[in-house]
Amino acid sequence: MASAYRPQKPVVVIGAGLSGALMATVLGQRGFSVILLEKRPDLRTTDISAGRSINLALSNRGIRALDKIGITDAVLQTTIPVYGRMVHDDRGNTDLQLYSGRKNLCNYSVKRGDLNALLLDAAEGTGRVDILFQATCTHVDLQRAVVYYTKDGQERQIEAEVVIGADGAGSALRRSMLQHSSTLRFNYMQKFIDHGYKELRIPPSGDGSHRIYANALHIWPKGEYMLIALPNADGSFTVTLFLPMEGGEVSFATLQTPEAVRRFFEREFADVVMHIEDLEGDFFRNPTGTMSTIKCYPWKTYGRTLLIGDAAHAVVPFYGQGMNAAFEDVRILDDMMGEDFDGDWRKLFTEFERLRKPDADAIADMAEENYYEMRKYVKDTTFIIKRKLELALEQTFDDFHSKYSLVTYCDEVPYRVAQRLGHCQDDYLMEFSSNLRLETVEHIDLATLLKQIRKACGTPKGTCMSSVKRE
Ligand SMILES: Cc1cc2nc3c(=O)[nH]c(=O)nc-3n(C[C@H](O)[C@H](O)[C@H](O)COP(=O)(O)OP(=O)(O)OC[C@H]3O[C@@H](n4cnc5c(N)ncnc54)[C@H](O)[C@@H]3O)c2cc1C
Repeated sequence: MASAYRPQKPVVVIGAGLSGALMATVLGQRGFSVILLEKRPDLRTTDISAGRSINLALSNRGIRALDKIGITDAVLQTTIPVYGRMVHDDRGNTDLQLYSGRKNLCNYSVKRGDLNALLLDAAEGTGRVDILFQATCTHVDLQRAVVYYTKDGQERQIEAEVVIGADGAGSALRRSMLQHSSTLRFNYMQKFIDHGYKELRIPPSGDGSHRIYANALHIWPKGEYMLIALPNADGSFTVTLFLPMEGGEVSFATLQTPEAVRRFFEREFADVVMHIEDLEGDFFRNPTGTMSTIKCYPWKTYGRTLLIGDAAHAVVPFYGQGMNAAFEDVRILDDMMGEDFDGDWRKLFTEFERLRKPDADAIADMAEENYYEMRKYVKDTTFIIKRKLELALEQTFDDFHSKYSLVTYCDEVPYRVAQRLGHCQDDYLMEFSSNLRLETVEHIDLATLLKQIRKACGTPKGTCMSSVKRE
């Protein structure tokens, strides 16, 4: 990392959330002086919820980025491994659908606050990152790379070498770009989905253990809505209800009273409602979150500013990839800077957005599609047969990876490639499975099936080397 280039001015990173704190650490380790602006107080010393969702699924792309700054072990110690989806049907039966046919491949459920705190420690640990809390960026002079912000009720400014906007879906840097959209030919699209979400909690049982199976993402799919529960290391679960905001028979608009909420949960989620400690309290105390996809382009201006993470490409949470993609942005930027970065930010930012934009679009589209899969398909027989075939293929052949694995575990495979191969494999296997019964799956000649998939999809061999090594 020993390049001779030393900028005169600091690099300013806006947002000390997940990607901003990682970005600042990587730049600090390179020897750059970095100012990290964060509008919230320091979450390590103030009791605030860290952000939108309490816990998140961390997987290979994110872990590979954390490897860069050497905090993977510390992070994983705070997590719970999650090996698959535990699907609960209407009669209270459960079915564990593994994420992968390969042993030890899993996602890690991590608390946003714990992870963010470790990243802030890492940033400060470089000795080069100055974090300003309760400092809200208001706008950025894009051409001069001047960042305007308010702190302690005063307006202030910093002249930066370059500005990196890691300030999430409501990005102030992106707002400044929008104000000059015609000069910059800046395209911007934000698409809200009809559903919102509400977080609830299952506390640990008396002896501190989990009240339901710990190593799975629990799903209660109901077609138009669903409930999920993701474990925390302290024995609790964070439960999330995804429901239409309005319209239809049940929506957030119709659940207006504690009695209506209780009735709805007892009718639809009878096998879990008794574990949710303070259903009515949580429901009316916790905010109803909205979810949207943000697509915009370009991500850079004048070689002086760059958007990363949700600021550039927010996605709906149904593939568990928003944070992983944001971390991957940082990993790729750092890889591109290489050993001897010479300060040509314009070239770096241009190449980064060119390479990365198609991948961001691909994961955004796959995340939207996965919502239908999670709330509808997971209890569809054809889908269950298809998943069983995928797992059998993964168990038998080193070079077969389902779409889910390509996205989640194959960090060498760009999202756009995972999308193309994954869709083709999905289409082929869904069609194939529609003619089968569950009992006949084990009699399928897998070698022939794989050959047919190859013929249909042209799946190249050896696309997932790094996750194979991880096992
Ligand atoms: C319900 C839900 C579940 C999710 N589950 C997963 C999951 O399982 N796996 C996964 O990979 N992803 C998941 N995500 C997505 C993930 O939360 C985001 O993709 C991730 O947080 C993006 O990181 P970021 O650093 O870009 O933005 P953020 O984490 O939002 O950080 C932005 C930071 O910038 C600060 N900020 C904002 N504006 C300003 C300003 N003007 N000035 C200064 N600071 C500012 C904010 O306070 C914040 O600290 C989920 C999202 C939701 C909503």
